[in-house]
Amino acid sequence: MGSIVAIIGRPNVGKSTLFNRITETRDAIVDEVAGVTRDRHYGKGEWNGKEFTIIDTGGYSFGSDDEFEEEIRNQVKIAIDESDILLFVVDVTMGITDLDDAVAEISRRSKKPVLLVVNKVDNHQRINEASIFYSLGLGELYCISSINGSGTGELLDAIVEEIPKEEVLEEEPDIPRIAVVGRPNVGKSSFVNALLGKERNIVTNIAGTTRDTIHTRYRAFGHDFYLVDTAGLRKKGKVKDDIEFYSVMRTVRAIEKCDVVILMLDAKDGMESQDVNILWLAIRNHRGIVIVVNKWDSIEKDTHTTKDYEDAILEKIAPFKDVPVIFTSVLEKQRLLKAIETAVTVSNNRKNRVPTSKLNELLLPIILDNPPPSTKGKYLKVKYITQLKADYPVFIFFCNMPQYFKEPYRRFLENTIRKHFDFNGVPIMISFRQK
Ligand code: GDP
Ligand code: GDP
Repeated sequence: MGSIVAIIGRPNVGKSTLFNRITETRDAIVDEVAGVTRDRHYGKGEWNGKEFTIIDTGGYSFGSDDEFEEEIRNQVKIAIDESDILLFVVDVTMGITDLDDAVAEISRRSKKPVLLVVNKVDNHQRINEASIFYSLGLGELYCISSINGSGTGELLDAIVEEIPKEEVLEEEPDIPRIAVVGRPNVGKSSFVNALLGKERNIVTNIAGTTRDTIHTRYRAFGHDFYLVDTAGLRKKGKVKDDIEFYSVMRTVRAIEKCDVVILMLDAKDGMESQDVNILWLAIRNHRGIVIVVNKWDSIEKDTHTTKDYEDAILEKIAPFKDVPVIFTSVLEKQRLLKAIETAVTVSNNRKNRVPTSKLNELLLPIILDNPPPSTKGKYLKVKYITQLKADYPVFIFFCNMPQYFKEPYRRFLENTIRKHFDFNGVPIMISFRQK
């Protein structure tokens, strides 16, 4: 399970510049593949082969000056609760402000690792000026310049150092972990409560060993799965903006901790940009996906047939359209189990492994009939294909000139795989390698 790194600190210290430096370039490729515009406040970082999710908390403050300090305090508290590692950013050109002191005070009380990042150290002279930040009582300083990149290597070293080597899960790994995510008020907690019913009181809460994640095990009607505790099940913030921030933090966390994401929509609203963002994050994390359209009872069925509605959703999430869409009503208890059953099926699809012989027997002739377009007089050849032994489907196409295989052909191969093998609801990775 991935770690979540939150960037905290008062405005203008350079949080979003640092965020962009850590996430830039990598995500652009994925955006293109997923065909979505991404929320710029969370993304993926990678260093020495270790991946983590990173959140820029500054993207969520819109309060007036009066409520500013209060709001930042709240967000820092939420960020500390919901993330695994904190980057507390200060600005060397400004020294220590009252707000820095306030954030430091909350950070010192947290049991999570806090890395104190002194930003805008653009030259050597400023390293001396940075030493005053030792007085914040947070230990080592990481002096960086987000603008020119100096010091960010050492910071990234320190971040991945804090990522646990291998998390020992107390849960049984073969039982799917399902997270119900979506915007506030779509019906997530109603759904979970309706499913768990009275049993809510007797199921055991298992705290994750390294952090305080709660997975609730549920066993009924022949199904056995974990529900990842998500938004709506805990106290929400007071200020309106906090709710959005809290909801985003919870969602990111839930996606990190599950195998399959149930993305719940309100039938009256359909698929909106925030939903596409959640979908992007789920794809980016290689999670299985089920889209659940809840409050189906509230829709006039004459004008909106299931088929039309489903088509409209799939159109919005193109090109990844091989996703199940289930229409539920918690109010009328319709298709709630169907939603869970589908999530379990998707979890199984995610574990599908196609034997190498089968893969080659099927795909090589198809590729021969539909060869990749030759580029600059060069003939592209696929030699053989194999699916990696991984937690999610990754196919490696060994070929002569991997750099010339382009997105449309990659998509053709993906669609061919989907046509012959059941990967419904599961993002597929395809990679071309030199042979
Ligand atoms: P945020 O409000 O904390 O997210 O801060 P921003 O990332 O928006 O940065 C605030 C200002 O500081 C912008 O004008 C940035 O260009 C500038 N800035 C960010 N990092 C650095 C840095 O390393 N050196 C210098 N000199 N300026 C920086
Ligand atoms: P959450 O914030 O996503 O957890 O949403 P809640 O579970 O708190 O539900 C928000 C509101 O939607 C509540 O008033 C629910 O009673 C209502 N609601 C939930 N499911 C349905 C449904 O299937 N149909 C209708 N009409 N209302 C629903």
